[in-house]
Amino acid sequence: MELLDQRPTVKGPADLFTGDVYYDMIALGQAPSLMRVNMVRFVPCARTAWHSHALGQTLHVIEGHGLVATRDRVFVMRPGDTVHTPPGEEHWHGAVPDRFMKHLAIWEGDDVTWGPHVTEAEYERACSGGREH
Ligand code: MN
Repeated sequence: MELLDQRPTVKGPADLFTGDVYYDMIALGQAPSLMRVNMVRFVPCARTAWHSHALGQTLHVIEGHGLVATRDRVFVMRPGDTVHTPPGEEHWHGAVPDRFMKHLAIWEGDDVTWGPHVTEAEYERACSGGREH
């Protein structure tokens, strides 16, 4: 076995995130493994841009309250919640307006398709509609 060096926390780039987002790379599989695990921290209102994962993604909330939205659904996510987005499904994830949120992001490979930022109108709509949980 191996005790891995801790990698420095990375600030999420402004072209992919709105607001301040920081992530730690927890696991980065070596080929043939495609494993990817990041611990991601969002400040209130911070969120990813629209994107999809070619092989899907699983999110697991550690702390705070978050939102995850597709084009037609919104979930509020709380600690202990796990949300799966299937391959190719457009979505975004982030914090609610008045809480931080920390989640594990678990996916495979580097085939992520990024789209536009989530607009204020889209975010506000998700905030008011995200009571499906
Ligand atoms: Mn995602």
